[in-house]
Amino acid sequence: MALLMKAKEAADRVYMEIMTEVSELGMQGIQPYLATIIVEGDPASAYYAEAKRRIAERLGVSFHLHAFKADVEEAEIIALIRRLNEDASIHGIMVELPLPQHISARRVEREIRPSKDIDGVTPQNKLATLTGEDGLYPATPQACIHLLKHYGFSLEGKNVTLVGRGQTVGLPLFHLLQREQATVTVCHSRTPDIASHLSHADIAFLAVGRPNRMTSAMVHDRLIVVDAGINETEDGRIAGDGAADLDAYVAAVSPVPGGVGTLTTAVLFQNLMKAIRIQQGEEEQI
Ligand code: NAP
Repeated sequence: MALLMKAKEAADRVYMEIMTEVSELGMQGIQPYLATIIVEGDPASAYYAEAKRRIAERLGVSFHLHAFKADVEEAEIIALIRRLNEDASIHGIMVELPLPQHISARRVEREIRPSKDIDGVTPQNKLATLTGEDGLYPATPQACIHLLKHYGFSLEGKNVTLVGRGQTVGLPLFHLLQREQATVTVCHSRTPDIASHLSHADIAFLAVGRPNRMTSAMVHDRLIVVDAGINETEDGRIAGDGAADLDAYVAAVSPVPGGVGTLTTAVLFQNLMKAIRIQQGEEEQI
């Protein structure tokens, strides 16, 4: 049986560090504050937003969920983001996706002040993710790498097959993997034979959003699989992109749920702490 790379221990370690930072900030009179924005209509994102509220409470971080009705105008969300940008008591802003069709996530997200952009979605932070300059990098790609390292796996010199090149996970993960000195092959919806690329991979990352995209017939017993996919199955369960029986055919695999998603939330709060440090630096420059 494969090593099951559960994320709870890694996430708890991150939370311990954050709690120390939160109490140190408290001594400086700083109360970390995360504002999230949601447009009603997607039960999954409402669930994730509530999960963040519970974690924030546990960490001593202030949290406010700004919820809009499904017919909200884009301009109204942008106006809120601009107010939050100017409010010095707010340190992190994030928009829960998906947004309804009539709202452009890209236009909304680019309004966030880069130093408060804890999920690395603004053009400035996307560029930093690409170049390696200091900034706030997207949480899920960071969580994928963090999980692997937590289990003692290194990426340097390894053959990595990344399945998915989406804006949220695959594309930024590709940039981070380059800097980990991995040799990366990127597969996507037009790749005819993904199994042939996996046959010479040491490590695979899945970021597709299709259940059973990786089946046991596509893998080998030395492969390490990090599954970032989140899919709702027909019977209402949450599943990754890898088939349920993958653990019998690979060396290590991250579970869904309880893997990358669990660590992603921790990394978001880690980014909030980094955002506060960046904002403190900005204040010193004024
Ligand atoms: P996305 O933007 O929709 O991108 C999906 C990628 O998968 C695209 O590159 C697409 O190829 C590729 N793809 C689609 N069908 C394929 C197929 N049959 N075979 C191979 N590749 C295929 O997705 P995303 O927003 O990056 O998210 C990816 C997954 O991560 C989703 O399941 C999402 O729910 C999950 N996610 C997880 C977390 C977490 O915390 N764990 C956070 C965010 C997202 P093309 O580029 O050719 O279209």
